[in-house]
Amino acid sequence: MPELPEVETVARDLQRWVAGATIRTAIVRWERTIRHPQPPERFVAEIAGATVRRVSRRAKTVLLHLEDGRVMTVALRMTGALIVTDAGTPADPYARVVFELADGRELRYRDVRKFGRIGLWPGGGLRSVGAGRGARSRRVAESGRRYRIGEVFSGHGPEPLQRSFTAERLAERLSRRSAKLKTLLLDQSFIAGVGNIYADEALWRARLHPLRGADTLDARDVRRLHRSIRQVLREGIANRGSSISDYVGVDGQPGRNAERLAVYQRTEQPCFRCGRPIRRIVVGQRSTHFCPRCQPEPVASAAP
Ligand SMILES: [Zn+2]
Repeated sequence: MPELPEVETVARDLQRWVAGATIRTAIVRWERTIRHPQPPERFVAEIAGATVRRVSRRAKTVLLHLEDGRVMTVALRMTGALIVTDAGTPADPYARVVFELADGRELRYRDVRKFGRIGLWPGGGLRSVGAGRGARSRRVAESGRRYRIGEVFSGHGPEPLQRSFTAERLAERLSRRSAKLKTLLLDQSFIAGVGNIYADEALWRARLHPLRGADTLDARDVRRLHRSIRQVLREGIANRGSSISDYVGVDGQPGRNAERLAVYQRTEQPCFRCGRPIRRIVVGQRSTHFCPRCQPEPVASAAP
């Protein structure tokens, strides 16, 4: 599943390839891909003629900012991809939505497993998000009201690569939680954009066991975790993402980060630091990879 580095790579590529392009029309081949507005015919009517001003990312979602202030969101979820093709490129049976651009190219939303969602929203309020309340964003999806783009992301936590995401801020957020580190890193209301791959990588780099309770970290642990989260995400972006399953960039090419991962899907292979075999456990139904030597098991707290 694409995480922050993969989605950031897609957004940066799209910025180069489609900023300034006008969408002539959209063809929706799988109606459930369209989240908002409903019905999909209305989405098609509203997107026709829109010009893309710039492309960015929030959490694991690509944002296409339109000239008139509206924002189109593309959540890639499991297998979604955005691919720009030249005129005359053969049709793709997995393209669920095709945006025909005025210059003859196509922006194709390709999604084998069909979990991804596309929405079109009124602009506004995006700067004020980050309060981190989970339930509200889910309600937005189901309600009929026209939510502004900022409200769509109101349930998401801070962006880990933003300057405002400091070690002090992370420490403050961790200290109020007793959840296990792995569970917390995957919680989008705690921190946005981190998924299974980069959570495991960040914890290995920080030498923290995935089952450590968040409120058991001392100041040095937190600084190491903060640095590690940002490092693994930045390296992922520099390598154009980790292509574990279907992820490809806008050019249709896989990223180069998968072969650089230290623990993720390296079960029984030697740890790059100490040589011990990497172990796999399941935490909250998610595969979790760690080094039993570099990431010591949490000490059981003394009985009261
Ligand atoms: Zn090790």
